[in-house]
Amino acid sequence: MIKVVKFGGSSLADADHFRQVASIIKADPARRYVVPSAPGKRFKDDIKVTDMLYTCYNMVKNQENIDEYYKNIAARYNGIIKELGLDFDISGELEYIKNALQHRSGRDFAASRGEYLNGIILAKYLGYDFIDAENIIFFKDNGTFDEELTNTVMREELKKHERAVIPGFYGVMPNGTIKTFSRGGSDITGSIVARAADADLYENWTDVSGFMMTDPRIVEDPCSISTITYRELRELSYMGAGVLHEDAIFPVRYANIPINIRNTNAPEAEGTMIVASSSDYDAEKIITGIAGKKGFSVITIEKDMMNSEIGFGRKVLEILEDNEISFEHLPSGIDNMSIVVSTASLEDRREKIVNTILRNVRADSVAVEDGLALIAIVGRGMVKAKGTAARVFDSISNAGINIRMIDQGSSEISIIVGIEEHDFEKALNAIYREFVK
Ligand code: ADP
Ligand code: ASP
Ligand code: MG
Repeated sequence: MIKVVKFGGSSLADADHFRQVASIIKADPARRYVVPSAPGKRFKDDIKVTDMLYTCYNMVKNQENIDEYYKNIAARYNGIIKELGLDFDISGELEYIKNALQHRSGRDFAASRGEYLNGIILAKYLGYDFIDAENIIFFKDNGTFDEELTNTVMREELKKHERAVIPGFYGVMPNGTIKTFSRGGSDITGSIVARAADADLYENWTDVSGFMMTDPRIVEDPCSISTITYRELRELSYMGAGVLHEDAIFPVRYANIPINIRNTNAPEAEGTMIVASSSDYDAEKIITGIAGKKGFSVITIEKDMMNSEIGFGRKVLEILEDNEISFEHLPSGIDNMSIVVSTASLEDRREKIVNTILRNVRADSVAVEDGLALIAIVGRGMVKAKGTAARVFDSISNAGINIRMIDQGSSEISIIVGIEEHDFEKALNAIYREFVK
């Protein structure tokens, strides 16, 4: 039995948490490979080490001196080492990294050092080997993750280590520079290691007792989910349920390794199991989870008889492609087409995009409206339960909220609704209450 265990930033924020993490690892000999994040927040307004490293990078870019600020980072690690009573000096590493930052090492290099240092300390504390992720996680020239090479090299390396710590979040480019995954990416590292180790289980330890049906910061005390499928989870995490990085599903999915979300501060809780497929179905609930995000815009294009015009959609999407914008949803009718994109991706290009669409497809009108929030209602049970969509829409309109967009059908396990941003919290609560009595 092999378990790969990943601990998030809040699980490794200080020495007490390190002790707790070590006791969890030591409680089960199967927990052989450990993936740590960088130290996270110790209290509400604390700053994550990763964020401090990004700040250092920006300071150097603005030609500011980082000596004073860097001391805060050094203090986090030195504090942990001292409180754990480790006979170990990390000042050489800290000095080297500071120097590299001052000499404008890359942004990703800067960010990755949070995991790197934490990995070294955790390995010492546990008495495990340290394997630097830069030797076993590879990216391609175009910046995408090289899963083939990584899986081959990592597999061989892991065989040489009975027990090891592998820092999360980063790997290496073909030219030898460090590259990170996107924020929260240690979850992906854990999944990659689980696959290469042929693990029986990937345990992802965080600060909540599993995945909850909806965001606990918006709905009070939501029910927790005991079992969820990879697909459901991906829909929910893509839509903002921040517990697990949305791309962390892929590596384990190939190998059919379940993920168990667990709480470092309540290790007795069973947490949430994420599995390939599941037949257990709670008729009381029907839906598995609800998640949502603000910050979307709709581009609405009108033209008479557009649906009979061959190549219309392609021409429009080509314009987005030329502007490097990906779209989220594409509801369309006979004479109109709407494209939902993230507002941030439009930036200062919106006028250019509108004009190009007007010109290239001879549209009658093109309008962009901001302030849209999207909510995804996700559940494998929706296929069986008739009338789920109607219940979703009724609950929203009964709360006096106007629905601006509906996208159902492209995936039979989810319904997406678009509403005004200021209705977001209210809508999430209304939908939740409709399905959970
Ligand atoms: P880590 O540092 O362990 O990677 P994250 O902060 O990335 O932890 O993810 C855990 C957090 O996700 C929780 O503290 C919680 O605030 C938030 N969260 C958002 N949506 C949900 C949800 N549906 N269920 C549980 N937690 C959620
Ligand atoms: N430390 C990184 C971040 O803050 C990666 C992670 O936590 O997974 O995004
Ligand atoms: Mg995380």
